[in-house]
Amino acid sequence: TAELSTLDPEVAGAINSELARQQSTLEMIASENFAPVSVLEAQGSVLTNKYAEGYPGRRYYGGCEHVDVIEQLAIDRAKELFGAEHANVQPHSGAQANAAAMTAVLEPGDTILGLDLAHGGHLTHGMRINFSGRLYNVAAYHVDKETGLVDMAEVERLAIENQPKLIIAGWSAHARQLDFAEFRRIADASGAKLMVDMAHFAGLVAAGLHPSPVPYADIVTTTTHKTLGGPRGGIILCKQELAKKINSAVFPGQQGGPLEHVIAAKAVALKIAAGDDFRERQQRTLDGARILADRLSQPDCTAAGVRVLTGGTDVHLILVDLVESTIDGKQAEDRLHSVGITVNRNAVPFDPRPPMVTSGLRIGTPALATRGFTAEDFTEVAEILAAALRPEFDEAAERELRTRVERLASNRPLYPNLG
Ligand code: PLP
Repeated sequence: TAELSTLDPEVAGAINSELARQQSTLEMIASENFAPVSVLEAQGSVLTNKYAEGYPGRRYYGGCEHVDVIEQLAIDRAKELFGAEHANVQPHSGAQANAAAMTAVLEPGDTILGLDLAHGGHLTHGMRINFSGRLYNVAAYHVDKETGLVDMAEVERLAIENQPKLIIAGWSAHARQLDFAEFRRIADASGAKLMVDMAHFAGLVAAGLHPSPVPYADIVTTTTHKTLGGPRGGIILCKQELAKKINSAVFPGQQGGPLEHVIAAKAVALKIAAGDDFRERQQRTLDGARILADRLSQPDCTAAGVRVLTGGTDVHLILVDLVESTIDGKQAEDRLHSVGITVNRNAVPFDPRPPMVTSGLRIGTPALATRGFTAEDFTEVAEILAAALRPEFDEAAERELRTRVERLASNRPLYPNLG
């Protein structure tokens, strides 16, 4: 980055500071990961210069012979990895993948049924001021207050009452697997199409460590930057019969020129995701999350009002309920930040506190697993989290925990050749 630092030292300086932040702290935001250098290289390439409206072999611009190769590789790898009949790799983000998928099968005013944002759903699943809530008539299902699991009886009841055109299964904050077969049955019984948004757990699916929604859903959307570990972006998978509609909903429906540099990075990430190392990493991701859930369920934590929602996890994250704790989600997030651990506060279902404060934390393991963290490392992380959330936490504890975090970070160097 010699050229950048000469030309624009302000931007270069902030990039370097961000690199140092990622290297020296523990990244535990469940939706984040560390893209490999190969992905960064593809994304930082000359492909950024190229316009390529259209699809491989059918472009509205000249000079697309090389980006065609790249986009076709990404499409073929996405189909192969997930066993899908069709893939569109152009969505600029997960939100745009969802917007396009919905316009492919819905008209404005149609009814959708999705998981309530306050219960772990995503903005694009029908939040009031999101496009999804403004364009469509929204019915929302919830999790059960006792178990924390999606209330499938309510899904069925709402599907029959509201006759949605589309049922959306998927989440941003949920620690368990969904029953795709049951969603399919309900969709069929109510005449709805089924869309699964696997943005969070796509990496687990790719590794065969989570059931695949592809056989059950008409459409599957995902991001490529969460458990999948690639560049920021989206992908839509669907059955062949929806392929044309999906493609035209993405372009020209939602987007102009595709980001071929990002698509190249998606192709690289999909290649990596098909390998054994990736599977091993996803297994460590799951093991790490279980270790955190077990530790934060111990008596010293429960006595401090720390509760692990659903009693554990089947995925790459845990949800911590602080309703009974003396600290709220914001204070807990700040405490962890002070010791060098980055997480996000998160509303828990039936949260008594407002969304800017919340009574929960969402804690994920994908980024640390990518960094090479082992079960032993995650055990130490779990001890640090437990100590930080206890009422005894004070300045001395903060210093001690920060040192332990620094030790973990320096034992597992990140991007040693960058910067
Ligand atoms: N879908 C789900 C389930 C998500 O959790 C997210 C990201 O938070 C998205 C879609 C949106 O992805 P993006 O932030 O790339 O628009």
